Amino acid sequence: MQLQSALFFETAEETFARVFSEWKPRTPAPLVRVKFCKFANANSFIRWDEAGLEVRITDVLEGAPAPILEALANILISKLVRRPVPKIHAERYRRYLNRKEMRRSLQLVKQVRGRKFVSGPQGACYNLEQIFEELNGCYFHGLMARPLLGWSRKPSRVMLGHYAPSHNAIILSKLLDRPAIPRLAVEYVLFHEMLHLRFPVEHRGARRCVHTRDFKAAEKQFASLRQAKEALKRLCSGSDNPD
Ligand SMILES: [Zn+2]
Repeated sequence: MQLQSALFFETAEETFARVFSEWKPRTPAPLVRVKFCKFANANSFIRWDEAGLEVRITDVLEGAPAPILEALANILISKLVRRPVPKIHAERYRRYLNRKEMRRSLQLVKQVRGRKFVSGPQGACYNLEQIFEELNGCYFHGLMARPLLGWSRKPSRVMLGHYAPSHNAIILSKLLDRPAIPRLAVEYVLFHEMLHLRFPVEHRGARRCVHTRDFKAAEKQFASLRQAKEALKRLCSGSDNPD
């Protein structure tokens, strides 16, 4: 049991230093720096030079139990010293990453930090935070908590706007971030997505109601709704609507 309790009181640096000395008992222990980084995936990096041992790990693993960090330390250090990764550690680490909530966290960081969110709220023409706060003041008594706001990577014509509840994020198509697009159109698409935040999807049996009666009534409150819709219609041929 001593090993167990030692594990729980170790810092990440101490874990890596201990595992390193297990692999290389005759080498003086290097200075260890462990940094948890906002990566878009589960990658980890290790480097060993005169300055010491530098480890960078995804911050998704920041709260991971000590045995998991120990497993990761063994995986990274065995690779560093060019020896086979011990199965027990590879298995333990893999099983942990495969847990449902871990898969979810990793999927989330991938979407939020990965390709989807290349640009933040400040676009080339329009600042979504600024527009959000104006709409918030006008239509929501300034009470709506601001979600993540960003422009899509690609200028989609099919999806002008999108609210992702799992990420609490509103993403607008980059297509709208152009001088040729009237600000009113951008305001309307953002307003529509804000209503998705305000009125969540209703489930009636197997039916999913995205635009509920309350949603539609609230949308009618938007000033110059008709002009905004017409501007979007000109922009997108066919029946494209923000969703
Ligand atoms: Zn919609």
